[in-house]
Amino acid sequence: MPTAEENKIFEKAQDCVRCGTCHVIYTTRIKSMRFGKQCPPGTCNLIESFYADGLMYLAVGLMREQFPYSPRAVDTVYSCTQCRYCQTICEEYVEAQTMPVIEELRNKAVREGVGPLPEQKKAIERFKRTGNVYGTSPDKKFSWLKNYSGKAKDLSTGGKASALYFIGSHYAFSPFTENIPASVAALLDKAGIDWGILGDAENCSGYHALALGYADLFKASAQKNIDTFNQLGIKQIIVSCPEDYSTFNLRYPEIAPLNVEVIHTTELFHRLVQDKKLKFKQHKAKITYHDPCHLGRYCGLYEIPRQIIQSIPGIELVEMERNRMDAWCCGAGGGVKLGKQDYAIAVGKDRVEEAVSSGAEILVTACPICIENFNEAKAQGNYPIQIQDLADLLCQSLA
Ligand code: SF4
Ligand code: SF4
Repeated sequence: MPTAEENKIFEKAQDCVRCGTCHVIYTTRIKSMRFGKQCPPGTCNLIESFYADGLMYLAVGLMREQFPYSPRAVDTVYSCTQCRYCQTICEEYVEAQTMPVIEELRNKAVREGVGPLPEQKKAIERFKRTGNVYGTSPDKKFSWLKNYSGKAKDLSTGGKASALYFIGSHYAFSPFTENIPASVAALLDKAGIDWGILGDAENCSGYHALALGYADLFKASAQKNIDTFNQLGIKQIIVSCPEDYSTFNLRYPEIAPLNVEVIHTTELFHRLVQDKKLKFKQHKAKITYHDPCHLGRYCGLYEIPRQIIQSIPGIELVEMERNRMDAWCCGAGGGVKLGKQDYAIAVGKDRVEEAVSSGAEILVTACPICIENFNEAKAQGNYPIQIQDLADLLCQSLA
């Protein structure tokens, strides 16, 4: 029996008019049929039920108790990368709110014990045990400090600073991004920022609990972080991971007030470039930029990363066919990478192929999940392109 709260959210699903607009790039922006498609699960499975309108049908059917929540329906719901393309494009026309419905479909799956997918369940167990979905020992989060001799303060032991650099689990634990915190640290020091870290006391943002449908677990971990952040006496939290950034900015305020500014590293670097606190030397390269879903469609940061890249003398920035609000998801978001590794990489390959077809030598982005998935996609397809994090590019280009 659906709860009243469930029904309230699932009623939004009836706003979908099944127009199919969210299956493709809007026709005036389409450049080729090869890259004219949207919605990774719909495109990969070529079955209507995997697109947003299929998920909206599913929600209405469950609300009306027309059928039970079957294992096949669970697989469909957890194939969505929560890229937000459907809602972004839909908001321009009928204002259907697909994302809250998809989130509630996952919450319902967890409440009824039918979801998430087996590997995602294991990841959540690791999160409960170790504080991160990878199950890595928290002290590894700061292994980059071994070679660091800069100005960071330890805020967990009473150190005071105006900003906290929140490292984030994925940046710290993925072999593809574990050195990026050192690049960010070098940039913060170079610009003279008064900053610190939380050391072992840094907890995961809870993004994966939220994405996979564990609403109560997310609330508890968010509340813990909000209490910690509000007590630190900082003015700003500097965040590199787009999932953490959108979770802090868009979802934490639903739990309790967070009394500090949350700023993404790209926003901070942009300010620092404008204030001439970061200057770059000549760096000749042809680069394309991938918009991470949680930075672009979730938070509207499309131009700032491009402006920073273009502030490096010698860089030529070229666009992929699907860019800004039309960007194709890397394939790993929404906890999909934790549950459906091969599918995530197949989606990532589509984006790497698009980057190669732009003529770029380097695919730059600002998200650890995208960086990891693109590297794994690149290894499978042996594509002639380098994958690089924006902070690493800036650090390498410092004058
Ligand atoms: S979610 Fe919006 S864009 Fe997609 S089919 Fe429904 S009404 Fe059309
Ligand atoms: S959020 Fe993205 S992956 Fe999920 S249904 Fe919408 S367009 Fe498809």
